[in-house]
Amino acid sequence: MNTTTLSKVVLVTGASSGIGEATARLLVKQGHRVVLGARRTDRLEALADELRSSGGQVAFRSLDVTRLDDVREFVAFAEATYGPADVIVNNAGVMPLSPLNALNVDEWDRMIDVNVRGVLHGIAATLPGMEARGRGHIINISSIGGHAVSPTAAVYCATKYAVRAISDGLRQETDKIRVTVVSPGVVESELADSISDAQARDAMKAFRRVALAPEAIARAIAYAIEQPDDVDVSELIVRPTASPY
Ligand code: NDP
Repeated sequence: MNTTTLSKVVLVTGASSGIGEATARLLVKQGHRVVLGARRTDRLEALADELRSSGGQVAFRSLDVTRLDDVREFVAFAEATYGPADVIVNNAGVMPLSPLNALNVDEWDRMIDVNVRGVLHGIAATLPGMEARGRGHIINISSIGGHAVSPTAAVYCATKYAVRAISDGLRQETDKIRVTVVSPGVVESELADSISDAQARDAMKAFRRVALAPEAIARAIAYAIEQPDDVDVSELIVRPTASPY
């Protein structure tokens, strides 16, 4: 356990797998007090038990980011457990890709609800407290899909462009709160498991062959957090070296 880092209270949404899980592991190891949120609490419990057994400070709570009340309760739980939120990592996301003409309207709605409303709910639940304290850090996970569009990914990319727009707007509106948007390239995770469309699933197999370990994104997030309060790492794109995308 490295306790030399200033210990912050960090909330991570979507901490039950992939990038969120790797981020939680790294930040706990660095000595931060981390609060995990996701719907699969069995996974969060197992992760929290493991990290506590090596001395980490970590708590978890069931969280559905599509519900504002739930996100507010998650933040209140974190504050009651460890104190005011210094950082929230709005990481929860889904990616059920399909061509627009497949009219998978329910999946479009789910991406908008989780990837856009979820981020906005994270902001709504933490911004007032951060503004009152005059400090805080909101980290939103976009994607290379927030920088370029590809077939079957129109709605997913729209949500990730939105995350960048929201992040940059928030950054310009405040001179006290740090705002970071991290755009990963392809990362090994469970993200593509939710693709129900056969054409999109096959295309993704080739697209996702060259992938980063989620720890690479965790390190980018940790880098943004460890900067002093007057330094805002506003945007990071992290790709596999061997990937052209
Ligand atoms: P995973 O599918 O492994 O993780 C997604 C996480 O989001 C899970 O912990 C899941 O938890 C959580 N989640 C989904 N829906 C909700 C919800 N309604 N409420 C709360 N949590 C939810 O994928 P990644 O780790 O790859 O994805 C993390 C982020 O990174 C996403 O925003 C994704 O768009 C982005 N990203 C990923 C890339 C990649 O190649 N992997 C590339 C670029 C960006 P649970 O199901 O338990 O609720």
